[in-house]
Amino acid sequence: MSGVVGILLCAGGSTRMGFDKLLTPIAGKTAIERSMDALIRGGAEEIVFAVSPDTRAFVEGLFCPVPSKIIEGGITRAQSVKHALGSIEHADIVAIHDAARCMVSPETVRESILSAEAFGSGVVAGKVTDTIVQLGETTVTTLDREKLIRMQTPQTFRFDRIKHAYDTGDLSAVTDDCALYIAAGYEPRFVLTEGEAANQKLTTGADWQLALANYARFGTGYDTHRLVEGRKLILGGVEIPFEKGLLGHSDADVLTHAIIDALLGAAGLGDIGRLFPDTDAAYQNAESILLLEEVVRRIEENRLRVSHVDATIICERPKIKPYAAAMQARLASAMHLLPEAVSIKATTTEGMNDEGMGLCISASAIASVV
Ligand code: MG
Repeated sequence: MSGVVGILLCAGGSTRMGFDKLLTPIAGKTAIERSMDALIRGGAEEIVFAVSPDTRAFVEGLFCPVPSKIIEGGITRAQSVKHALGSIEHADIVAIHDAARCMVSPETVRESILSAEAFGSGVVAGKVTDTIVQLGETTVTTLDREKLIRMQTPQTFRFDRIKHAYDTGDLSAVTDDCALYIAAGYEPRFVLTEGEAANQKLTTGADWQLALANYARFGTGYDTHRLVEGRKLILGGVEIPFEKGLLGHSDADVLTHAIIDALLGAAGLGDIGRLFPDTDAAYQNAESILLLEEVVRRIEENRLRVSHVDATIICERPKIKPYAAAMQARLASAMHLLPEAVSIKATTTEGMNDEGMGLCISASAIASVV
């Protein structure tokens, strides 16, 4: 080992959230993977994973694009770090990072490494924006925000110094590396992050929601089909009694097609034409709602989940409103959503354009996946 080594702590229990926060995907990637990516993109040339019996199998199966090793973590964070440091023979710099801080940016990692190269340490910490008060028996003292920081990770150090700090320090009393570094007689340099949320640790359900929102992705879809005689009118998987229907290779369900494209866009999985080419006889008169189910299956296969869809049907006639609830229910069930997560609206073009003249029906949609 040499150069810059990232120590990724994946050994912490996650009892507070009721599920394994390190192993449950957030928008398709676990906290361990996201933290690993940030360390590597920030400059770590090798990774030491400190695992627990719970996380070992997952980490063993992980693709790490740089040299890596897996070591057994300890009962406490400090013991895990000590084991990890003990497993490294040579390194210039080590960046010690909690996997639960998976929203850290590669830029923050890089800054901490550059600081450690220049000054011996680069300890990432957050500025404090809330007013913090200290409660006494009968007093309330407002603390000076300028003198307060919130300790975060990565905490990056020259390897020889932090190794010395861990070899000589009292591990029973510390919760972070910086405290041991100071106890060993070194002066820390801090890398301050802006805002409260950027480098938040996944601890509570609220943090989890923040992470989901942080990685939510959106896609838009749009489609038009010609209105002709002698075809059924299917919108959102619901047959609507009308004297005309939409022309197309499949059932020409323009609403479902727009939603499919929005979902594929959000999930980065291409578009409807690529997935279900209209030159393929298999999709002749296909029920589009079944194609939607297939798309959702593929999205879930990619460890993503549809979270919300909003769509607008653009047509002069027939009236959509009486059928909107049925479409909502049908589409929601195809996407494994509650009906309230699917919004179906309709508008006319006041007699203008091809939709207004009754030549076609169009639909647009936006979808989010997490
Ligand atoms: Mg279409």
